[in-house]
Amino acid sequence: MKTEKLYETDGMLHTFRANIIETKQTEKGFALMLDRTAFFPEGGGQTADKGMIGNAKVLDVQIVDGEIWHDTDILPETETVDCTLDFDERFRKMQNHLGEHLLCGAIHKLYGYENVGFHLGADYMTFDISGPMTAEQIYEAEKLANRAVAEDAPVRCYVPEDISALEYRAKSEKLEAVAEIRIVEVKGFDRCACCAPHLDRAGKVGLIKIVDAMKYKGGMRFSALCGFDALADYDRRLTEIRRVSALLSAKPHEIALGVEAKLAELGEAKKQIGALKRELSALKLAVIEETDGNICIFDDTMDGNALREFATNGVKKTSAIFAVFSGNDETGYQFVIASATIPLKAKVQDIRAALGGKCGGSDKMLFGHADASKDAILTYFG
Ligand SMILES: [Zn+2]
Repeated sequence: MKTEKLYETDGMLHTFRANIIETKQTEKGFALMLDRTAFFPEGGGQTADKGMIGNAKVLDVQIVDGEIWHDTDILPETETVDCTLDFDERFRKMQNHLGEHLLCGAIHKLYGYENVGFHLGADYMTFDISGPMTAEQIYEAEKLANRAVAEDAPVRCYVPEDISALEYRAKSEKLEAVAEIRIVEVKGFDRCACCAPHLDRAGKVGLIKIVDAMKYKGGMRFSALCGFDALADYDRRLTEIRRVSALLSAKPHEIALGVEAKLAELGEAKKQIGALKRELSALKLAVIEETDGNICIFDDTMDGNALREFATNGVKKTSAIFAVFSGNDETGYQFVIASATIPLKAKVQDIRAALGGKCGGSDKMLFGHADASKDAILTYFG
C-alpha cells in the first residue's frame, strides 16, 4: 500500500500534514490518495472518518483495490495539505468501539464466548457473541467491562513479531478478512486482533451500558452505548421519566407503581362504562314499540359489539327485520341486521345491491358496511 496508516499506531492523532500522491475525478467530486493518513476507511463494521484535507471536505474514505481513497468535494489547492479529522465523531466511535472490545473481552473471560459480529451506526452500536447468556451473566460482564474502564489500563496497538506465540481473541472469519493481524491490547485485560483506530487508554471509554439483549443465531445480539453516547441516552431516558412522572404526579422512581394504579383505574372505568352502555342500550330498546314491520335504528355511539348485542335483543320487537346502523353519510355505516322469522342469507345480494359496501353472515344475523345514505337505508327498510 502506498499510504502509511497513521490511525493504526495513534488513534488519538487528529491533525496531520500529508502529500497528495494521486487524484482522480469521480461522479460525486474527486478522490485523493495521500502518502499518509489518519482518516480511517470504512471497514470492520465501522464507518469512515470525515473532516478536511486542506480546503477540501472529506465525504468518504474507502479501500479500493488495496489503496486508500479519500472522496472529497473539491481538489485541494496545494499538493502538501494540512488535514483535520472530525474528531468529536471519531472519539465517539472510538469510545463505542473500545467499549465493545472491553465487553467482548469480559464475556470471553467469564464465559469463553467469541465475538462474531460488530456494527457501529450513527447513534447505536451492536455486537454478536457465540453463546447464550442470562440476565445475571450479562450484568456481570457489563460490570467487569466497566471495572476495566475504571482501572484505566493503557491501550496499545501493534503488529507482533511472532503472532503464533501470542494468545489473543480473533473475530469471526468475515471480520478477519478485513483485519490485518494487528493486535489491540488493553493491558492486563484483553488482547484482540483488530484493524480500527483505538483510544490510548481504557478510561477514555467512559460508561459502558448494554441497553438491549436478544437471542440471535444460537448466541446473543447486544446493543450497547459508551461514553458520550451513554450520557446522551441517560439524558433522553431521564427526560422521558420526568415527563411520565409529571403526568402521573408520581415520584420519578415510583412511576411503575403510578402506571399500575392508573391501569387499575382504567380497568375499573371500562367495567363501569360497559355496565352503563348495557343499561343505556336496554333503555333505548324499551322505547321501541313492537311491530310486524321492519325496524331500522341509527345510533352512532355503538361499536361492533354494541350493534350485535342491540340487534340480538331488538329482534324480539318485530316479526320482520330489525336493523341497526352506526356511522354517517360521509364515511358510511357499520350495521347488524337480524330476524327471527325471515332467512337473511337469501337477502344478502339484494341488500348489497341496495346499500353498497359489504354484507355477510347467517340466516339469523347479517353484518356489514353500507355506502348508502341514511335516507336510502331508511327507504330500503321502509
Ligand atoms: Zn478494535
